[in-house]
Amino acid sequence: MIDLDGLRFCYGNGGFRLELPALHITRGEKVAIVGPSGAGKTTLIYLISGILAPQAGAIRVDGVDLTGKTDRQRRDFRISRIGFVFQEFELLDYLTVRDNILLPYYLNTTLPLGPQARRAAESLAGAMKLDGKLRRYPKTLSHGERQRVAICRALVASPALLIADEPTGNLDPDSARSTLDLLLSEVDRRGATLLMVTHNHDLLDSFQRVISVQDFAQGASS
Ligand code: ADP
Repeated sequence: MIDLDGLRFCYGNGGFRLELPALHITRGEKVAIVGPSGAGKTTLIYLISGILAPQAGAIRVDGVDLTGKTDRQRRDFRISRIGFVFQEFELLDYLTVRDNILLPYYLNTTLPLGPQARRAAESLAGAMKLDGKLRRYPKTLSHGERQRVAICRALVASPALLIADEPTGNLDPDSARSTLDLLLSEVDRRGATLLMVTHNHDLLDSFQRVISVQDFAQGASS
């Protein structure tokens, strides 16, 4: 599902470098990405999802070579093939919960927004304990509820790859565990691959593999 080879990346200011000789993640694998704050976890998942482009190396995701693609091509690829849960959720305040969940269908015209998509949104909202909240706006929801809306949005189009940046951050331990369990059961139901950044070491037993970004990242070179 994910093949990275000879990857080299640094930000424009040259302060942070990531060097990753090889990383292979198979279809259906559930992988946690760990490391202290600032270690490069978000950078790594942004590279895999095509939000950032490396200076050198190859990135293949779901059979598509992202190397050499334009920003626009990588964006289209991400929207159509990857479900992404952002750390700050990136929900749109002026859309209802229902429309926030359905956003991939509005952004990607190749996804048909019909009754099936609407049913998928409703059933996911039910599974994520958001029943009765579909007409609400994000500002009227709790932090945990907004997090679960972001997870529904990432899953609604049944992507083969789900990437989540700390989807259980800022939740109390019980809510973190139950949110992860809901997410994992939806991932399993779809046979999707999961790549999840987490700081929460209590959750790691739910993953088949744990990758520590400290093994690849270096701070300022000077
Ligand atoms: P993590 O997700 O593990 O907290 P990040 O991937 O967000 O770490 O950041 C890794 C390093 O890259 C940090 O030192 C951070 O300051 C730096 N960094 C992140 N984004 C940028 C950027 N847009 N420009 C320059 N440096 C950045």
